Amino acid sequence: MPKLGEFEIIERFFARAVADPAVRVGIGDDAAIVATEGEIAVAVDTLVAGTHFPADLAADAIGHRALAVNLSDLAAVGAKPRFATLALCLKQADPDWLGGFAAGFFRLAERHGVSLIGGDTTKGPLIVTVGVIGDAPRTPLLRSGGRPGDRIFVSGTVGDAAAGLEQLAARTAQAGAAARALIERFRYPEPRVALGRALAGLAHAAIDVSDGLAADLAHLCRLSGCGAVIDLGALPLSEPLRALYAIEDAETLALSGGDDYELCFAVAPADVGRVRDIAARIGTPVSEIGELEPGGAIEGRRDGRPVALAAAGYVHF
Ligand code: ADP
Ligand code: MG
Repeated sequence: MPKLGEFEIIERFFARAVADPAVRVGIGDDAAIVATEGEIAVAVDTLVAGTHFPADLAADAIGHRALAVNLSDLAAVGAKPRFATLALCLKQADPDWLGGFAAGFFRLAERHGVSLIGGDTTKGPLIVTVGVIGDAPRTPLLRSGGRPGDRIFVSGTVGDAAAGLEQLAARTAQAGAAARALIERFRYPEPRVALGRALAGLAHAAIDVSDGLAADLAHLCRLSGCGAVIDLGALPLSEPLRALYAIEDAETLALSGGDDYELCFAVAPADVGRVRDIAARIGTPVSEIGELEPGGAIEGRRDGRPVALAAAGYVHF
């Protein structure tokens, strides 16, 4: 690395004081040592510049997203995030970029009580790999627990991040408020940690929506050994998405656009009321969008009538 050396980068941007007494050894030694209470949940995700985000995305947003996608994986199993590692591959050591990246990363980390305990810093193409460790709940939320008859829910709104990425690529000189709101959804996804933790032991199955609602629901269905019917009219579409896109395009983005990091989960009909109460208490909106069915197909329904998802504009699987 020119000017800023590897150890200077770590010291200046990443070796922050850790408040969590469970971190016996943090950044600085050969390996971190942490105390845990029981079973742990472990996840890792790599973001490659130009593939998972535009290379010129604000550094602050890259730092946020790299951690957010991992916290979303912990949320999807109902775990409580505790520790993170950060492997950073950089083209050059630009202090402004590093400062922005660290600000975005630590802002989200602090909000979720996550301590950065180690990592690696290398030179090469811009690639960010974050690993996370969380306390696993007694009954983890898995993709495999869904049963026919379960009601399918999704948190928040879907399609926004994919629309935001489109708006970002369009580079409209003066993006209006709706476009800006969608772009913020892409830049700063909000992992649904509190909801995931509250659903553990209650929902039968869950997955976080990273590849797109239809594709991720298909993963849940495959592992649960069932199919699903989605009520297209019940898809939660945000105001900005409705403002900028025709309804068919908004539905297509909601079904096939990725990067929302909402939770999609299956609940026994008898528990629907409890789930709604929990969501209201946490302050995370949830929408019932369909039902798990016997078989293996993912089907659409509009006004009670079956429609092929392809007819709704969705053709990707
Ligand atoms: P080693 O050669 O033993 O792998 P390094 O010299 O790579 O150790 O790193 C020194 C210390 O700094 C280690 O504790 C490592 O975990 C930490 N570290 C390196 N890069 C980062 C980073 N980007 N973020 C957080 N910690 C880092
Ligand atoms: Mg190393």
